[in-house]
Amino acid sequence: MSVETKVEENVGEPFVCGEIHLETVTCFICGSYNRDDNRRRFSYKSHSIVAPVDLFLTGRVITKMFNCGARFEHNPQKPKQARVLIGACDRHIHKLERLVELTKDGKISKDRVESARFG
Ligand SMILES: [Zn+2]
Repeated sequence: MSVETKVEENVGEPFVCGEIHLETVTCFICGSYNRDDNRRRFSYKSHSIVAPVDLFLTGRVITKMFNCGARFEHNPQKPKQARVLIGACDRHIHKLERLVELTKDGKISKDRVESARFG
């Protein structure tokens, strides 16, 4: 039996996102809205993932893991619909895909965000 005493990574915050789609949010790497579409039609929509959050604090904590490109949407009238959006431009969509991979177990942490950014 393994007696490995690996120091667990900070377990992080609950984070379950859906498929990558388009939302109005900037890129979490470079902060831009750049997409190929913009050449034809001005658009603020970027590749994006959305994760519902149960607690106001969770939304704030997750958003703070990002320097840019993450937005917490919270309506006090509709607390059940609170959500965090994270975006990526055309150049950095692979970084967003990496973040989805890294959070597949339903957790997000600053370490994982950094791994997605620099990995
Ligand atoms: Zn970008």
